[in-house]
Parts: sequence; structure tokens; C-alpha cells
Amino acid sequence: MIGFSEYEQIKVKAIQGRYLPPEPVYDFLKGTLNSNAVEVAGYSVEHREIYALKLGNGPKRVLMWSQMHGNESTTTKALMDLIQKCLLNPPKWLEGVELLLVPVLNPDGARAYTRVNANHIDLNRDAQRLSQPESQVLRSLFDSFAPHYCMNLHDQRTIYGIGTPPRSATLSFLAPAADPGRGFSASRRTAAGLIGLMADSTRAEIGIGRYDDTFNLDCVGDTFQAAGVPTLLVEAGHYPGDYEREFTRFYVYKALCKALEGIASGPDAFSPLSEYQAIPENTTPFVDILVENAHVLLPGIPPGHRLGLQLEEVLQGEAIHFRPKLIDKGALTGVWGHRVLDAAKRRDLEQINGLDFFPLL
Ligand SMILES: [Zn+2]
Repeated sequence: MIGFSEYEQIKVKAIQGRYLPPEPVYDFLKGTLNSNAVEVAGYSVEHREIYALKLGNGPKRVLMWSQMHGNESTTTKALMDLIQKCLLNPPKWLEGVELLLVPVLNPDGARAYTRVNANHIDLNRDAQRLSQPESQVLRSLFDSFAPHYCMNLHDQRTIYGIGTPPRSATLSFLAPAADPGRGFSASRRTAAGLIGLMADSTRAEIGIGRYDDTFNLDCVGDTFQAAGVPTLLVEAGHYPGDYEREFTRFYVYKALCKALEGIASGPDAFSPLSEYQAIPENTTPFVDILVENAHVLLPGIPPGHRLGLQLEEVLQGEAIHFRPKLIDKGALTGVWGHRVLDAAKRRDLEQINGLDFFPLL
């Protein structure tokens, strides 16, 4: 088991926070790895380099990419930690795998802090058309490397939770479907077995959810799964209070290590399908801030009604600011807040007034 204190020894502390443009990532890679290990796999729309790097010489080839959505940086941070671990204190599993990592597939989106690329295309809906240079880079690596496994690494929003009362889904997983019938093909079953291991390694500490498996061949994971390569989706989510996603980063790292250990050990080590199926499905019960007794703030609202606020991520200079935005009001039954403030309480009211959101007009 990987503990937090052990993790702190290898964590790449030069890379932190929510905003992660490509430069610090590339600086770390070029400063840490020998130049043979890092190659320019292609260029983005705005002609930024897309780097790929290899680690390990084992028999099982694993392709992993992150920041296909430029504003989803948590898994890139975890990949940096994984690289650091392999360099400083190589784990046993590294002998069993050959990793091909693409830490920032969408460098233009990473720079601008957008989901889409510079042509405003969602690269995770471009797997068939391959209309974008970034999509072509990934497809060409997939074809030339011929991976045995793929890991598609993302971030999800703070709205996701599991159970009732809900727990934040700090990690969510999906073994994407390989066909419209959403059956468990051999590759999907294998991916699900790995997810079972990942979930098992972290579920005692955090909420783990299972993502919607609607089949869409425009999504990269579905396309690779349909090609018969076990592919799994990892969604880094919200850990209570951790908007910079530094705790989540640790759990992504821990889950990735577990999956790679499983791959190195072989399919006998994977979890049965039932474990994957037992992971609760993601629901969307959360707002970032729930304001109780909103009638105190806004005369005319029925007593007991509530306000739901989301924190919008806004890039200002080189940092992300979290700006409260009113998204819903009313009884809001079944809505839960990561933070709850009661307008009827003086201390909370001061905090609500300090939030500086534009109420209702
Ligand atoms: Zn994403």
C-alpha cells in the first residue's frame, strides 16, 4: 500500500495547483529524463510540441495520455509523480511494463485553460474524424506502439457524487463500451478487471464512482475498446476542500500504480467483473456552495428556499480563481453542498455577503 508520507518523498512539488500549462511539464521532463526518452510526437494547432516519453522495457505495452481536455490537469500531475517514482525508486512492476506517456495531449487548451483545442474542437469527440492534429498524434501513437492497454486520463467536475447522503466522487472510472449493446467484450472485461483493482486500492479513503457507459464511437476510449485494446477512463474528481486537487492527485497516482502493478502481474491478478459492476454509478447531487434560508437575503423567496452556487474556474494571469456563480434556486430537494452556509446565521451571512455573487436579477 502506498502511504501519503511515502508519496510526499516522490511528489513533483514544482508542479502544483489547477492551472498547468505545458511549459512546466516539459521543463520537468527535459530536466529529469535523458533526451532519448522524450520525443516530440507532433504539434498542436498553434504549433506547440506534444511530447511523448517511454519508461520501462517490460513485455506489456501501456499507452497513457492526459490533458486531452486542456483544463483537466490533475492526472498530468499524477503522471509526473509516477515518472518521478520510476526514476528515484523504481517499483517492481516497472520490469513488467513499457509505458508510453503523453502528459499533455492538448497543449493549446492547457495554456488557455479550455476543454477544447485551439480550433474549439473537443478531442474526445474526434476519434473517428481525426480532424485535429492532436487527435492524429494520439491515433498514430496508438497504431505504432500497438499497446496492450490504454488509459485515458481526465478530470470531472465537483458535481459528481455517489450514494445517499452523497459522498464526493473523488475518482470515477469507466471501462468504455465496445459496441452499442454495451456488452462486456473481452477487452472491456479486462479493463473492468483493472478498474476493480484501482477502486479497491482507494475506496476505503475516498468516494469512487462509475461513469456513464453510453456508447459513442467518437470518443477515444470507445474507439480503442472497439479495436480490442482494453481501455479504461480515469476521472479525477473533487476531494472535500481540495479545489487545487492535490489530494486527488495522490489518489490518482495510487490508483495508477495499482493498475500498473496488476498489468505487470497479469490477468489472474485482476478483479472479477462483479467488483466493477458493484462500483456505484455517479450521480450529480452536489453544488459547491448551498445557501440555506435564502429568504433572509432575498425577500420574496419562500421561507426555507435555498440557493445553489457553483465555483467557476477563471484563468487570471497564471492562476485559476474560483468565482461563485448562482446556478439554481428553490427548494432544491436532493441537492447537497460541498459547503453549506445558512443565511439565518450571522456568521454564515457575513461569509455569504463576502462571496460576491450576483444574486437573482
Ligand atoms: Zn475530460
